[in-house]
Amino acid sequence: MKTAILASQNKNKIREIQAILEKYDFSVISRDEAGIPTDDIEETGTTFEENSFIKASAIIDMIAADPTLDKYKDSPVIADDSGLMVDALDGAPGVYSARYAGEGCTYEDNNVKLLDALEGVPESKRGARFVTVITMIWPDGSRLIARGECEGRIIGEQRGSRGFGYDPLFIPDGYDETFAEMAPEAKNRISHRARALDELEKLLG
Ligand code: IMP
Repeated sequence: MKTAILASQNKNKIREIQAILEKYDFSVISRDEAGIPTDDIEETGTTFEENSFIKASAIIDMIAADPTLDKYKDSPVIADDSGLMVDALDGAPGVYSARYAGEGCTYEDNNVKLLDALEGVPESKRGARFVTVITMIWPDGSRLIARGECEGRIIGEQRGSRGFGYDPLFIPDGYDETFAEMAPEAKNRISHRARALDELEKLLG
């Protein structure tokens, strides 16, 4: 079995990616488990593609520079980057979704800021989409880029207590519930992440 290294430490992401990659004979380990330094990698890109590439290639570089990581020198690295793009805000908060209300802000701060920014915007103009880009790169420079999107709209107040981030404000197209009101399995079937993972599977196949 080959090893693939995941830039994220998020257990759910590791499990989801493992379920797909094992079909292609990869076992997925986190950057932490591989013993790769956990220094922050600055996400300086302006697109999800750029940021996921920056994270994955920084780890490829760390492996190449450290002889103790030699056993991973042929392993691919996978990184993902996600966020919310709101039409009436020209695609904001986009790559800044995690820190929309400022460095160190909470999900609640971001939701309040988004509601304020959309104050007075009519329902017909509240379209938005969640986006995930997963980049898988190999040390020889080859790469796969998988993008998944989930279209919907931003409502005028927070509803529901499940999920995380902007979930209480987002109703996906074709549904009446926000992501934070839906059962997690229902969200996970149609989410931007699920769609990016489907796309990655197609690209690997
Ligand atoms: P990450 O790149 O997956 O860490 O996502 C960056 C930010 O986008 C998160 O901190 C959230 O604010 C937002 N986000 C990403 N995915 C979701 C989601 O499924 N629901 C709600 N917010 C999300």
